[in-house]
Amino acid sequence: MKSLDKNRSFLYSWRQKGGSLWRNVVPNKKVSPAKKENPTRGEKEFSMREVRALYQALTQAGCVALKSNEFCEAVDKNKNGSYLIKHDIHSDLRRTFYFAEMEHDLGVNAVYFAMPEHDLSESYFGDQYMWRGFKRIVEMGHELALHLDLHQLVMRYGDLSTAVRETMEIFRKEGFAIQTANIHGNTGLRRLYGSPKALIRRMDNDTEPLKHKFPMIGSDFRKHYASLSLETLALDHGILNWIDSGFFRAGRNLNVAGNCTDNSGSLYYGVHGRNLLKTAPYSIDSEFTEKLVQYCRETTSLFLLHPQFYELP
Ligand SMILES: [Zn+2]
Repeated sequence: MKSLDKNRSFLYSWRQKGGSLWRNVVPNKKVSPAKKENPTRGEKEFSMREVRALYQALTQAGCVALKSNEFCEAVDKNKNGSYLIKHDIHSDLRRTFYFAEMEHDLGVNAVYFAMPEHDLSESYFGDQYMWRGFKRIVEMGHELALHLDLHQLVMRYGDLSTAVRETMEIFRKEGFAIQTANIHGNTGLRRLYGSPKALIRRMDNDTEPLKHKFPMIGSDFRKHYASLSLETLALDHGILNWIDSGFFRAGRNLNVAGNCTDNSGSLYYGVHGRNLLKTAPYSIDSEFTEKLVQYCRETTSLFLLHPQFYELP
Protein backbone atom coordinates (compact mmCIF):
# COMPACT_ATOMS: atom_id res chain seq x y z
CA MET A 1 0.00 0.00 0.00
CA LYS A 2 2.76 2.30 0.97
CA SER A 3 4.77 1.66 -2.23
CA LEU A 4 1.66 2.22 -4.43
CA ASP A 5 1.18 5.63 -2.87
CA LYS A 6 4.79 6.33 -3.45
CA ASN A 7 4.36 5.41 -7.14
CA ARG A 8 1.28 7.63 -7.42
CA SER A 9 3.02 10.64 -6.00
CA PHE A 10 5.99 9.97 -8.27
CA LEU A 11 3.68 9.84 -11.32
CA TYR A 12 1.90 13.00 -10.18
CA SER A 13 5.07 15.07 -9.85
CA TRP A 14 6.43 13.60 -13.08
CA ARG A 15 3.26 14.64 -14.95
CA GLN A 16 3.43 18.09 -13.36
CA LYS A 17 6.86 18.43 -14.90
CA GLY A 18 5.38 17.62 -18.32
CA GLY A 19 6.09 13.88 -18.36
CA SER A 20 3.95 11.65 -20.57
CA LEU A 21 3.34 7.91 -20.41
CA TRP A 22 3.17 7.88 -24.18
CA ARG A 23 6.59 9.26 -24.65
CA ASN A 24 8.16 5.89 -23.80
CA VAL A 25 6.22 3.93 -26.40
CA VAL A 26 6.38 6.37 -29.34
CA PRO A 27 9.45 5.36 -31.35
CA ASN A 28 12.16 7.97 -31.57
CA LYS A 29 12.09 9.96 -34.81
CA LYS A 30 15.15 9.15 -36.89
CA VAL A 31 17.70 11.88 -36.41
CA SER A 32 20.04 12.57 -39.33
CA PRO A 33 23.77 12.47 -38.57
CA ALA A 34 24.06 16.17 -39.48
CA LYS A 35 21.28 17.03 -37.06
CA LYS A 36 22.98 14.98 -34.35
CA GLU A 37 26.07 17.06 -34.99
CA ASN A 38 24.13 20.30 -34.66
CA PRO A 39 20.72 19.84 -32.94
CA THR A 40 19.69 23.42 -33.74
CA ARG A 41 19.84 22.75 -37.49
CA GLY A 42 16.39 23.35 -38.97
CA GLU A 43 14.45 20.84 -41.11
CA LYS A 44 14.87 23.08 -44.12
CA GLU A 45 18.53 23.89 -43.82
CA PHE A 46 21.55 22.42 -45.54
CA SER A 47 24.45 21.36 -43.35
CA MET A 48 27.50 23.63 -43.12
CA ARG A 49 29.74 20.60 -42.70
CA GLU A 50 28.46 19.10 -45.95
CA VAL A 51 28.79 22.26 -48.04
CA ARG A 52 32.27 22.76 -46.61
CA ALA A 53 33.15 19.21 -47.66
CA LEU A 54 31.86 19.97 -51.15
CA TYR A 55 34.13 23.02 -51.47
CA GLN A 56 37.10 21.05 -50.16
CA ALA A 57 36.48 18.24 -52.64
CA LEU A 58 36.34 20.74 -55.52
CA THR A 59 39.62 22.33 -54.43
CA GLN A 60 41.33 18.95 -53.99
CA ALA A 61 40.29 18.03 -57.52
CA GLY A 62 42.01 21.16 -58.84
CA CYS A 63 38.79 23.13 -59.51
CA VAL A 64 39.08 26.88 -58.94
CA ALA A 65 36.37 29.32 -57.83
CA LEU A 66 36.72 32.63 -59.68
CA LYS A 67 35.17 36.09 -59.62
CA SER A 68 33.23 37.33 -62.64
CA ASN A 69 35.98 38.91 -64.74
CA GLU A 70 38.43 36.05 -64.16
CA PHE A 71 35.73 33.49 -64.84
CA CYS A 72 34.87 35.19 -68.13
CA GLU A 73 38.50 34.88 -69.23
CA ALA A 74 38.67 31.26 -68.08
CA VAL A 75 35.53 30.33 -70.05
CA ASP A 76 36.90 32.01 -73.18
CA LYS A 77 40.11 30.01 -72.80
CA ASN A 78 38.19 26.77 -72.10
CA LYS A 79 39.83 26.34 -68.73
CA ASN A 80 37.89 23.36 -67.43
CA GLY A 81 37.46 23.10 -63.68
CA SER A 82 36.78 26.84 -63.39
CA TYR A 83 33.61 27.67 -61.54
CA LEU A 84 31.81 30.73 -60.19
CA ILE A 85 29.70 30.73 -57.04
CA LYS A 86 26.75 33.13 -56.91
CA HIS A 87 25.12 33.96 -53.59
CA ASP A 88 21.85 35.87 -53.54
CA ILE A 89 21.58 38.03 -50.45
CA HIS A 90 17.90 38.30 -49.65
CA SER A 91 16.78 39.13 -46.11
CA ASP A 92 19.41 37.25 -44.09
CA LEU A 93 22.68 39.10 -43.54
CA ARG A 94 23.96 36.99 -40.63
CA ARG A 95 24.01 33.79 -42.65
CA THR A 96 25.49 35.66 -45.60
CA PHE A 97 28.38 36.99 -43.55
CA TYR A 98 28.95 33.60 -41.93
CA PHE A 99 29.08 31.97 -45.37
CA ALA A 100 31.58 34.54 -46.66
CA GLU A 101 33.91 33.89 -43.71
CA MET A 102 33.59 30.13 -44.12
CA GLU A 103 34.53 30.36 -47.81
CA HIS A 104 37.40 32.69 -47.02
CA ASP A 105 38.80 30.16 -44.52
CA LEU A 106 38.72 27.57 -47.30
CA GLY A 107 40.39 29.89 -49.83
CA VAL A 108 37.27 30.04 -52.02
CA ASN A 109 36.06 33.23 -53.74
CA ALA A 110 32.40 33.91 -54.49
CA VAL A 111 30.13 36.61 -55.91
CA TYR A 112 27.59 38.10 -53.48
CA PHE A 113 24.51 39.71 -55.05
CA ALA A 114 23.30 42.50 -52.78
CA MET A 115 19.81 43.93 -53.04
CA PRO A 116 19.26 47.67 -53.35
CA GLU A 117 16.52 48.99 -51.07
CA HIS A 118 13.76 46.40 -51.49
CA ASP A 119 10.96 44.68 -49.53
CA LEU A 120 13.43 41.90 -48.70
CA SER A 121 16.23 44.24 -47.61
CA GLU A 122 14.30 47.07 -45.94
CA SER A 123 14.95 45.77 -42.41
CA TYR A 124 18.71 46.32 -42.82
CA PHE A 125 19.36 48.32 -45.97
CA GLY A 126 21.75 51.23 -45.49
CA ASP A 127 22.72 50.55 -41.88
CA GLN A 128 26.33 50.24 -40.77
CA TYR A 129 26.03 46.51 -40.05
CA MET A 130 25.24 46.02 -43.75
CA TRP A 131 27.96 48.31 -45.18
CA ARG A 132 30.60 46.97 -42.77
CA GLY A 133 29.66 43.42 -43.73
CA PHE A 134 29.82 44.21 -47.46
CA LYS A 135 33.24 45.83 -47.01
CA ARG A 136 34.47 42.76 -45.17
CA ILE A 137 33.12 40.56 -48.00
CA VAL A 138 35.22 42.50 -50.52
CA GLU A 139 38.29 42.60 -48.23
CA MET A 140 38.18 38.81 -48.03
CA GLY A 141 38.53 38.64 -51.81
CA HIS A 142 34.89 38.03 -52.74
CA GLU A 143 33.04 40.18 -55.28
CA LEU A 144 30.02 42.33 -54.46
CA ALA A 145 27.38 42.44 -57.21
CA LEU A 146 23.81 43.72 -57.48
CA HIS A 147 20.60 41.72 -57.19
CA LEU A 148 18.38 43.86 -59.42
CA ASP A 149 14.64 43.43 -59.23
CA LEU A 150 13.71 45.29 -62.41
CA HIS A 151 9.99 45.60 -61.65
CA GLN A 152 10.60 47.07 -58.24
CA LEU A 153 13.27 49.42 -59.59
CA VAL A 154 10.89 50.80 -62.23
CA MET A 155 8.18 51.25 -59.58
CA ARG A 156 10.62 53.12 -57.34
CA TYR A 157 12.54 55.24 -59.87
CA GLY A 158 10.21 55.54 -62.89
CA ASP A 159 12.54 54.04 -65.49
CA LEU A 160 15.38 51.53 -65.65
CA SER A 161 18.24 53.85 -66.63
CA THR A 162 17.59 56.20 -63.71
CA ALA A 163 17.13 53.23 -61.38
CA VAL A 164 20.44 51.61 -62.32
CA ARG A 165 22.34 54.94 -62.26
CA GLU A 166 21.04 55.89 -58.81
CA THR A 167 21.55 52.40 -57.39
CA MET A 168 25.14 52.30 -58.64
CA GLU A 169 25.67 55.75 -57.09
CA ILE A 170 24.48 54.57 -53.65
CA PHE A 171 27.03 51.74 -53.73
CA ARG A 172 29.78 53.91 -55.31
CA LYS A 173 29.47 56.46 -52.48
CA GLU A 174 30.24 53.66 -50.02
CA GLY A 175 33.31 52.65 -52.02
CA PHE A 176 31.95 49.77 -54.11
CA ALA A 177 32.78 49.57 -57.82
CA ILE A 178 30.14 47.12 -59.00
CA GLN A 179 30.61 45.34 -62.33
CA THR A 180 28.15 42.46 -62.09
CA ALA A 181 24.41 42.02 -61.60
CA ASN A 182 21.59 39.53 -61.85
CA ILE A 183 18.09 40.46 -62.98
CA HIS A 184 15.84 37.54 -62.04
CA GLY A 185 13.83 39.66 -59.58
CA ASN A 186 11.35 37.80 -57.42
CA THR A 187 8.63 35.22 -57.90
CA GLY A 188 5.84 37.38 -56.48
CA LEU A 189 6.28 40.19 -59.00
CA ARG A 190 6.94 37.74 -61.82
CA ARG A 191 3.50 36.22 -61.15
CA LEU A 192 1.94 39.68 -61.39
CA TYR A 193 3.86 41.14 -64.34
CA GLY A 194 5.65 38.27 -66.15
CA SER A 195 9.39 37.87 -66.60
CA PRO A 196 11.61 40.88 -65.79
CA LYS A 197 13.76 39.80 -68.77
CA ALA A 198 11.06 41.32 -70.98
CA LEU A 199 12.41 44.74 -69.97
CA ILE A 200 15.95 44.04 -71.25
CA ARG A 201 17.31 43.46 -74.74
CA ARG A 202 20.74 42.04 -75.44
CA MET A 203 22.38 44.59 -77.77
CA ASP A 204 21.47 48.23 -78.50
CA ASN A 205 20.31 47.42 -82.02
CA ASP A 206 18.06 44.52 -80.96
CA THR A 207 14.33 45.12 -81.01
CA GLU A 208 13.29 42.03 -79.05
CA PRO A 209 13.91 41.50 -75.32
CA LEU A 210 15.94 38.63 -73.83
CA LYS A 211 14.48 35.17 -74.24
CA HIS A 212 11.99 34.62 -71.43
CA LYS A 213 9.42 32.03 -70.38
CA PHE A 214 6.78 34.23 -68.77
CA PRO A 215 5.12 36.78 -71.10
CA MET A 216 4.38 40.28 -69.86
CA ILE A 217 1.12 40.54 -67.91
CA GLY A 218 -1.00 43.72 -67.89
CA SER A 219 -0.05 47.14 -69.21
CA ASP A 220 1.88 48.59 -66.23
CA PHE A 221 5.29 47.74 -67.73
CA ARG A 222 4.37 47.96 -71.43
CA LYS A 223 6.34 51.15 -72.03
CA HIS A 224 9.41 49.63 -70.37
CA TYR A 225 9.37 46.60 -72.70
CA ALA A 226 12.96 45.98 -73.94
CA SER A 227 13.85 49.49 -72.75
CA LEU A 228 17.44 48.86 -71.64
CA SER A 229 20.14 46.75 -73.31
CA LEU A 230 22.89 44.66 -71.71
CA GLU A 231 25.27 46.56 -73.97
CA THR A 232 24.20 49.93 -72.48
CA LEU A 233 24.21 48.42 -69.01
CA ALA A 234 27.90 47.68 -69.60
CA LEU A 235 29.00 50.78 -71.54
CA ASP A 236 26.99 53.49 -69.76
CA HIS A 237 26.48 52.02 -66.30
CA GLY A 238 29.58 49.87 -65.80
CA ILE A 239 27.66 46.62 -65.25
CA LEU A 240 29.74 44.42 -67.53
CA ASN A 241 28.45 41.05 -66.45
CA TRP A 242 24.91 39.83 -66.19
CA ILE A 243 24.83 36.40 -64.56
CA ASP A 244 21.73 34.36 -63.86
CA SER A 245 21.50 30.82 -65.23
CA GLY A 246 23.76 32.04 -68.06
CA PHE A 247 26.66 34.48 -68.18
CA PHE A 248 26.46 37.50 -70.51
CA ARG A 249 29.39 39.90 -70.90
CA ALA A 250 28.17 43.23 -72.33
CA GLY A 251 25.50 41.25 -74.17
CA ARG A 252 27.77 38.47 -75.39
CA ASN A 253 26.66 35.03 -74.24
CA LEU A 254 29.48 33.00 -72.73
CA ASN A 255 29.53 29.28 -73.26
CA VAL A 256 29.23 27.99 -69.68
CA ALA A 257 28.11 24.36 -69.64
CA GLY A 258 27.48 23.40 -66.01
CA ASN A 259 24.92 24.74 -63.58
CA CYS A 260 24.48 23.86 -59.92
CA THR A 261 21.63 25.30 -57.86
CA ASP A 262 19.98 24.88 -54.46
CA ASN A 263 16.87 26.75 -55.59
CA SER A 264 14.32 24.13 -54.62
CA GLY A 265 15.59 22.53 -51.41
CA SER A 266 17.80 19.98 -53.16
CA LEU A 267 21.11 20.57 -54.85
CA TYR A 268 20.96 20.02 -58.62
CA TYR A 269 23.71 19.82 -61.18
CA GLY A 270 23.14 19.88 -64.92
CA VAL A 271 25.04 20.45 -68.13
CA HIS A 272 23.51 22.48 -70.99
CA GLY A 273 20.11 22.45 -69.29
CA ARG A 274 20.04 18.67 -68.76
CA ASN A 275 19.83 17.61 -65.11
CA LEU A 276 22.44 15.03 -64.19
CA LEU A 277 22.54 14.97 -60.40
CA LYS A 278 20.17 15.73 -57.55
CA THR A 279 20.50 15.36 -53.79
CA ALA A 280 17.82 14.32 -51.31
CA PRO A 281 16.20 17.41 -49.73
CA TYR A 282 18.65 19.45 -47.64
CA SER A 283 21.32 16.78 -47.77
CA ILE A 284 24.60 17.00 -49.71
CA ASP A 285 25.86 13.44 -49.39
CA SER A 286 29.37 12.33 -50.30
CA GLU A 287 28.21 10.35 -53.34
CA PHE A 288 26.68 13.50 -54.87
CA THR A 289 29.81 15.50 -54.04
CA GLU A 290 32.08 12.91 -55.66
CA LYS A 291 30.08 12.84 -58.88
CA LEU A 292 29.67 16.62 -58.98
CA VAL A 293 33.42 17.09 -58.69
CA GLN A 294 34.00 14.69 -61.58
CA TYR A 295 31.67 16.72 -63.80
CA CYS A 296 33.04 20.09 -62.66
CA ARG A 297 36.65 19.27 -63.45
CA GLU A 298 35.67 18.44 -67.05
CA THR A 299 33.84 21.69 -67.75
CA THR A 300 33.05 25.23 -66.53
CA SER A 301 30.19 25.72 -64.07
CA LEU A 302 28.01 28.29 -62.36
CA PHE A 303 26.80 27.66 -58.81
CA LEU A 304 23.84 29.38 -57.17
CA LEU A 305 23.76 28.92 -53.39
CA HIS A 306 21.50 30.88 -51.02
CA PRO A 307 23.14 31.37 -47.60
CA GLN A 308 19.62 31.66 -46.14
CA PHE A 309 19.15 27.89 -46.73
CA TYR A 310 22.20 26.89 -44.65
CA GLU A 311 22.37 26.29 -40.92
CA LEU A 312 23.98 28.93 -38.73
CA PRO A 313 26.18 26.94 -36.33
ZN1 LIG B 1 17.46 35.98 -55.86
